Amino acid sequence: MNIHEYQAKELLAKHGLPVPRGIAALSVEEAVEAARQLPGPLYVVKSQIHAGGRGKGRFKELGPDAKGGVRLARSIEEVESHAREMLGNTLVTVQTGDEGKQVNRLYVTDGVDIGKEYYLSMLVDRASGRVAMIASTEGGMSIEDVAHETPEKIVTITIDPAQGFMPHHGRALAYGLKLDGDLAKQAQKLGRQLYDAFHALDCEMIEINPLAESNGTLMVLDTKMSFDGNALFRHPELADLRDVTEEDPAEVEASEHDLAYIKLDGNIGCMVNGAGLAMATMDIIKLNGAFPANFLDVGGGASREKVTAAFKIILKDPAVEGILVNIFGGIMKCDVIADGIVAAAKDVNLSVPLVVRLEGTNVEQGKAILDNSGLAIVSADDLGDAARKIVAEVRKAA
Ligand code: GDP
Ligand code: MG
Repeated sequence: MNIHEYQAKELLAKHGLPVPRGIAALSVEEAVEAARQLPGPLYVVKSQIHAGGRGKGRFKELGPDAKGGVRLARSIEEVESHAREMLGNTLVTVQTGDEGKQVNRLYVTDGVDIGKEYYLSMLVDRASGRVAMIASTEGGMSIEDVAHETPEKIVTITIDPAQGFMPHHGRALAYGLKLDGDLAKQAQKLGRQLYDAFHALDCEMIEINPLAESNGTLMVLDTKMSFDGNALFRHPELADLRDVTEEDPAEVEASEHDLAYIKLDGNIGCMVNGAGLAMATMDIIKLNGAFPANFLDVGGGASREKVTAAFKIILKDPAVEGILVNIFGGIMKCDVIADGIVAAAKDVNLSVPLVVRLEGTNVEQGKAILDNSGLAIVSADDLGDAARKIVAEVRKAA
């Protein structure tokens, strides 16, 4: 789960990290009111979307000469005009894709006089089984570009979870950022605080870019934070921070039914149980010259309700021209699954070709239910057969 910059900064501030003052705003009036509460005379008006690169981004509605999604303002009037230009408009950045994201929230912050920009992040490094702290003297720009052009300017420090953040980690961080004296002490403290926040909140990633030096003080000027979805149950306090308007509506609906769904670009909808089988199904569709429209894992307990919900979600995608169901009846029996498929197909008035491949317990009864359903369901014997059949059916229908 991702959250907005202003929410992440509030969480970091609670863990003691130095964050400039700021207030979130949903309207131009609220943005003006926020600016009035800040000392001024320099403000920053920041678009809140779940994507980075906002500063260099462009608003679709405003033309190429307009400013980006993060703007400095030198008066309250300027805050007002920036807020008016941003709210409701679509911000396109390197991370949003061409369609961009509508800006519905702003964050008005105290403007900081930047001396130098640094980069600092933490993430779960699966290869080492540790939290990796990544730091660079090259802040403010995309870390991917730094990694590409000057990889020697990136330092990675891994932290053993059994040991936790030790003083030597802090010293390695300060050294990596080429800081000394009081700034080095600040970096050591900040590294520890960041690790504590990361650990306490079960984060997947926290990225601070830039971490800015301003008049002798390190400050978190921008941050992105995401949480480990598997640990969210431990954090009911974080549930309110979710902004579903930032997520794909079909994926939100799928998560409500406990279905793992990810939309893709192809035309063949897939309904499969088990992530491994789902990936194999997508591969074999490609092998037969077509592309999957989605990844969808209905999980072990594919009830009739779940199968119906899954059909509805797949069919909401106008690109879907056929559906391939590939289910292994292990825990679930094939006849129960077949009943569910037939009922769901009737329920949604299925109008595109449907190929079903069942395997496992009671497979013969399952196939008989499909064959006697009166619906135009094509049954398949194995994975290769199923993929060939759905690709042929879709071509025939086109
Ligand atoms: P991003 O483009 O989505 O990564 O958004 P950032 O919050 O990182 O802002 C982009 C850039 O705006 C930063 O790299 C800074 O150079 C600049 N910026 C952000 N906040 C301030 C500020 O308080 N003062 C100044 N002078 N520049 C800022
Ligand atoms: Mg940034």
